[in-house]
Amino acid sequence: MRSLDGTGEHGAVKRHGRGRTTTYAVGAMALLTAVSGCGSDGGTGGPPAAAVSTPADRGAAASSAAPQQPVTPPPAPAPVPAAAGDPAAWAKWNLKPLPPAPPAPADKPVKLRRSGPVPVFSEVRTTDKVVFVTIDDGAEKDPRFVEMLTDLKVPVSMFLTRDIVKDDYGYFKRLQALGNHVHNHTVGHAQLSKVTPEKQRSEICDAQTAFTQQYGTAPLLFRPPYGGGAHTAALNDAVQQCGPRAVVLWRESMQIHDMQYQAADKKLRPGDIVLAHFRGPKDLKGETMTQMFGEMLARIQEQGFAVARLEDYIESPAA
Ligand SMILES: [Zn+2]
Repeated sequence: MRSLDGTGEHGAVKRHGRGRTTTYAVGAMALLTAVSGCGSDGGTGGPPAAAVSTPADRGAAASSAAPQQPVTPPPAPAPVPAAAGDPAAWAKWNLKPLPPAPPAPADKPVKLRRSGPVPVFSEVRTTDKVVFVTIDDGAEKDPRFVEMLTDLKVPVSMFLTRDIVKDDYGYFKRLQALGNHVHNHTVGHAQLSKVTPEKQRSEICDAQTAFTQQYGTAPLLFRPPYGGGAHTAALNDAVQQCGPRAVVLWRESMQIHDMQYQAADKKLRPGDIVLAHFRGPKDLKGETMTQMFGEMLARIQEQGFAVARLEDYIESPAA
């Protein structure tokens, strides 16, 4: 299949590709099931109604010695991680809470190998009603966005470009400290399908070295700017030589207020990888990073999806 060259992954809001063919048929499978057990009504995003006792129920069941506070619904039957954040936090950002993400799968759908060709994927095979959020480049370093992720506990995966972040590596350390992983998105955001194999290697390897040094761990994943060259042997060779163990593309890309979908029906599918960017008012027609991100979460919430951590669905190669 064709690569995603020229889909305008960076800095070109209008040029994103649409209606691309996809590598997998996972969407159809995913439609059959929604086993997240995390509420998919697209409304409150809370636990299923049956699991929520009314204040009257609670009063009847519990001792009346202390006044009941019907503010916290009882936990759902399955263990629910604290990743959904606190409802008050969502209200602070004028958002409806997302459903909590289900527990990370024990058997990871993506298993990476230590050596050999790296896989290229834009979605993860899962029936969990989750999507994965990736944020690219690193131009906008809005402190309010750190506050937002601290409040909401929405996991993101960061694909950083060295020369765009090197003036403030520390900003992304704050996001890393929240449990978010840093990945490789080249040194200078070159369109890799248009440069020599040597240049491809330096774009990837030099970023890998810098991020390993700065963030204390070697990036596991790589994303080529614009998706360029993702399916070429030259790029795959370069990635292998530099260290990342997969090339990650995307299914949807967030613009300013809305998402662009590759699927004709413009709907999220379980396991989709969503692309967003660290962008500010200059690139967002006056909108802020947190406004854009909030709109993205609203689009996800409307469709009843949770946001899960991409790395929780990936088995790293054994060391
Ligand atoms: Zn980019």
